[in-house]
Amino acid sequence: MTKDTWGRVQNELKATLGKDAYSNWIDPLEMVEQASGVIRFAVPTNFFGDWVSRNYGDRILQGFLDDGCPVDRLDFTVPARKSPAAVQRRAAVPASAASARKPAAAEIDLPGSPLDKRFTFDGFVVGKPNELAHAAARRVAEGGPVTFNPLFLYGGVGLGKTHLMHAIAWEIQNLQPDAKVLYLSAEQFMYRFVQSLRFKDMLGFKEMFRSVDVLMVDDVQFIAGKESTQDEFFHTFNALVDQNKQIVISADRAPGEIDGLEERIKSRLQCGLVVDLHPTDYELRLGILQSKAETQADYYPGVVLADGVLEFLAHRISTNVRVLEGALTRLFAFASLVGREVTLDVAQECLADILRASDRKVTIDEIIRKVADHYNLRLSDMLSPRRARSVARPRQVAMFLSKVLTSKSLPEIGRRFGGRDHTTVIHAVRRIEELKAIDNQIAEDVELLRRMLEA
Ligand code: ADP
Ligand code: MG
Repeated sequence: MTKDTWGRVQNELKATLGKDAYSNWIDPLEMVEQASGVIRFAVPTNFFGDWVSRNYGDRILQGFLDDGCPVDRLDFTVPARKSPAAVQRRAAVPASAASARKPAAAEIDLPGSPLDKRFTFDGFVVGKPNELAHAAARRVAEGGPVTFNPLFLYGGVGLGKTHLMHAIAWEIQNLQPDAKVLYLSAEQFMYRFVQSLRFKDMLGFKEMFRSVDVLMVDDVQFIAGKESTQDEFFHTFNALVDQNKQIVISADRAPGEIDGLEERIKSRLQCGLVVDLHPTDYELRLGILQSKAETQADYYPGVVLADGVLEFLAHRISTNVRVLEGALTRLFAFASLVGREVTLDVAQECLADILRASDRKVTIDEIIRKVADHYNLRLSDMLSPRRARSVARPRQVAMFLSKVLTSKSLPEIGRRFGGRDHTTVIHAVRRIEELKAIDNQIAEDVELLRRMLEA
């Protein structure tokens, strides 16, 4: 039965996509029929269908195929309206409620994401790379006259952006229990927006978002390229700033570097305080490990880490804090299962895969060298201003690989390629992405180089 298969595919997606994405995009899909190799889903809006098809279509299709279901294609359509009366009734509810009586702010159900109990200021370890971000977050949490609006936090994955945002929310709730703090991911924001379009309840949407005292939107880079969501975000943002309400935003890049974000939004985001979380250094990692090890020790009494194990981890795992935490958790679990002291040898053995993965750090220099080699060019050609295709194309390939294999920012990559502008890098990345789809030679070159560099 295809419906059973759909159930299994859903379960798998739930596991791989995570709760947020699953409940936003997969759960609302309704499988309607399967006929001549096409599986049809009912979706709330065309936009929704488009989005799901583009972002999750392949995975859904693969799920069906893996289960042995004969299908060539998925189709996402908005079902024809059932009865005009039903639609009208639905649309009429919020409108008449709003005109009869404006709901008091406290009655409005805020659609935020839950806050993680562990993500408090107490649990946040401060070091050089994050001290500015931490200080700014503290200041915002203390409230008082709004000083930085918005506070814009940015930095790579796992550096503590979400942690700091939750900490602000907890602290404000402690200090001002009446304040309405709304924390949500940009994806949630967009989902709410799409829902309100679907139920023709834009009024309710606007009212809800404009009624908060503090709005926090996490991972705002997500709405880049999504025009109508951006538009609505912009209006919400302005309305709140006009009322002197605090806004906190996070992203994985600086506002100016978020490709596909409207200029007016970029400039608004830059109006407040923009602070970045730098990659961790050894001291900070060690501090975090010590703090987390204390917490773990409460769960696993009797587990002993030998001297030097934390130092070893701080030294060897420098990618992101989430990985570091994962490694520590695994060590504690392992030690409590086998009842052995965790020595350096045990740690090395138990974490072999994580250690290997974090060893494999590719540098831009290596990329430039390998690409030059592959295309028989001189190193100086890669960095020179020459624009002949025979040089420019390999250079673009190298820029593309630098973007996908390293965590360097676009301006940094530009600088390393003979002081080029970040827009040149953006252009190169796009160009190679396009070419990979239509030019087999390029696709092969890129794949080969990537494998060599990652090996
Ligand atoms: P981001 O949102 O920047 O990707 P998170 O805030 O989700 O990163 O952090 C990833 C994990 O690392 C979380 O479990 C968080 O508690 C932890 N973490 C990051 N930075 C710190 C820090 N300075 N002190 C304590 N824990 C941290
Ligand atoms: Mg985050």
